[in-house]
Amino acid sequence: MDKREKAKKVLDILEQEFPEAKSALEFKNPLELLIATILSAQATDKLVNRVTPELFKKYKSAKDYALAPIEEIERMIGSVNFFRNKARNIKACASRIAEVHNGKVPDKLEELTELPGVGRKTANIVLGNAFGKNALAVDTHVKRVAQRLGLTENDDPDRIEADLCKIIPPERWTRTTHLFIMHGRTTCKAASPKCETCPIKDYSVYYKTEYKRIRKG
Ligand code: SF4
Repeated sequence: MDKREKAKKVLDILEQEFPEAKSALEFKNPLELLIATILSAQATDKLVNRVTPELFKKYKSAKDYALAPIEEIERMIGSVNFFRNKARNIKACASRIAEVHNGKVPDKLEELTELPGVGRKTANIVLGNAFGKNALAVDTHVKRVAQRLGLTENDDPDRIEADLCKIIPPERWTRTTHLFIMHGRTTCKAASPKCETCPIKDYSVYYKTEYKRIRKG
């Protein structure tokens, strides 16, 4: 079975498993999602969702963040890991949006990735979820699931994104992110994947090789 066909079968099954899969971050507009996504690096979505309501109430526009004292932003996001770095990135990113993009979060990948602290993953999350564009974001779950299924041989997230985008039709890119994240969180866990009960084990290279080898050993 070629990778294109395998990806289709896997996504069809995961759609059945997780029809409700969507971003766990809470937001009402592109700016809120951008800020929440910056905060979510190496932090849980749950923690981010605890911090953002107060933040979003206080700062409503890119200019608000740009004008806010950095110490104030730091204090408001203080429970999130790397809060100092993140506060700096949020302020720098918002300043650029205010100055260069007239206060509006850009809806193009090239423009988003030019913002301070915004990489392809964050940009694709914003494009796919706040702008409804076709965008495949590769986080740690997407990377692990894609590798274990044998849909990519690469380790670099940008290359994995390119590999997946070659074999998955654009209209399924955003869903692929949500479905692989849900599958990675619930079944294909990093340390102990639940391979025996996995609904896509027939398509998993890891299951046929590593998992069976470990079980035998
Ligand atoms: S069989 Fe195991 S490794 Fe393969 S996708 Fe399922 S949970 Fe992940």
